[in-house]
Amino acid sequence: MDLDGFKDVNDSLGHDAGDDLLQTVASNLTGMLRETDTVARLGGDEFAILFPELDSFEAIEQLVQKIAAGVMSPLEVGNHRIDIGVSIGIARYPEDGDQQERLLRNAEIAMYVAKRNDKSYMAYQSGLNQNKLEMLLLKSDLREAISGDQLSLYYQPQINMADKRCIGVEALARWIHPERGFVPPDEFIQVAERAGLIRDLSRWVINEAISQAARWHGDGWPICVAINLSARNLQEPDLLEFVTDRLNAHGVPPSSIQFELTESDIMSDPETAIAMIESLTRIGIEFSVDDFGTGYSSLAYLKQLNISELKIDRSFISQLTSDGDDMVIVHSTITMAHKLGIRVVAEGVEHQAVWDLLEVLDCDLIQGYFISRPLPVAELALLREAGITDHIG
Ligand code: C2E
Ligand code: CA
Ligand code: CA
Repeated sequence: MDLDGFKDVNDSLGHDAGDDLLQTVASNLTGMLRETDTVARLGGDEFAILFPELDSFEAIEQLVQKIAAGVMSPLEVGNHRIDIGVSIGIARYPEDGDQQERLLRNAEIAMYVAKRNDKSYMAYQSGLNQNKLEMLLLKSDLREAISGDQLSLYYQPQINMADKRCIGVEALARWIHPERGFVPPDEFIQVAERAGLIRDLSRWVINEAISQAARWHGDGWPICVAINLSARNLQEPDLLEFVTDRLNAHGVPPSSIQFELTESDIMSDPETAIAMIESLTRIGIEFSVDDFGTGYSSLAYLKQLNISELKIDRSFISQLTSDGDDMVIVHSTITMAHKLGIRVVAEGVEHQAVWDLLEVLDCDLIQGYFISRPLPVAELALLREAGITDHIG
């Protein structure tokens, strides 16, 4: 069982309200069950209930309807009345899985199908998992990928306009699923965020990126590795400690990494973002505002946010040479950023003409397929030997 709209409660009423809501739901649930039933919270806003004594599907259905209705009735959280929905997936033993893992996974698939179809519950049917998205939503696979060795980082060079040197790389996560092959990061990052796995995933990325930075520094290539964070990472009180610990363990200075946060993630909870940015900049780590221009931020926030860099979203960059509006936006963004002492990166640069125009507009850094796609470490080393910017006219 998963709550619908839990994120909205967290985002709009704050995390204490979210915690209260989870506790209320948990105690409502326990109140509706028998001694022999088991209820557990799996993580985030997800619960599992085990009914060892129900023997007919009708009995299951009745109980599930009762639970859905019971949880959905308006809840009091603080001074607010909240209407929360639920999605429940049902899997039966042994026909839907005779092992714990398969049973849970099939219940989860059924739950996602219920959610997608705006139903409060759905029973598992074989064939449901044919759908690609349902497959992707399988967090047990992702959890395994994080703890196993299925994830890797690719690195995309960032070129300093002034001297055409590569001064940094952005670390981008890659997942090769053993059966399904390449899973796009946009998709599995979203799964990780929803499934409460983003903490583990980001920490895997941070550790891996720092250890790679250490190897490059050791090889006499002291570049800065940019690491993407998610909004949820900002709520981890021990993130600072983790990062400090990893930097020490790998023996590199804080300036060997930087963090990227999207503009919309920052704006979803500016207070929390400001606090986290403050604490990490204090130890010498710089922040970049990713996908700049797609969120709704204001100059006032930019000034308060101790950020060093704006990364203009590639939607403004790709048509830059043909779209007059984009050029005005990019030009004024660069001018404004420079006045605030913030450097600007253009991402998604695919052609020489765009590079040339960005040079005229005084953009500081360039990233994009025109320089290189994100590459695994070994291929980046080859490109480095060949000269990363040798092809630029
Ligand atoms: P992003 O942070 O905006 O990353 C830039 C994306 O643009 C990357 O896609 C990159 O491959 C792509 N790109 C770079 N240059 C060009 C270009 O010239 N043209 C075009 N069309 N695309 C270009 P990718 O690797 O598929 O990553 C997608 C998104 O997934 C990232 O967007 C980021 O939001 C997320 N992501 C990737 N790795 C991580 C991670 O480790 N942690 C978190 N939280 N998010 C990640
Ligand atoms: Ca990024
Ligand atoms: Ca971006």
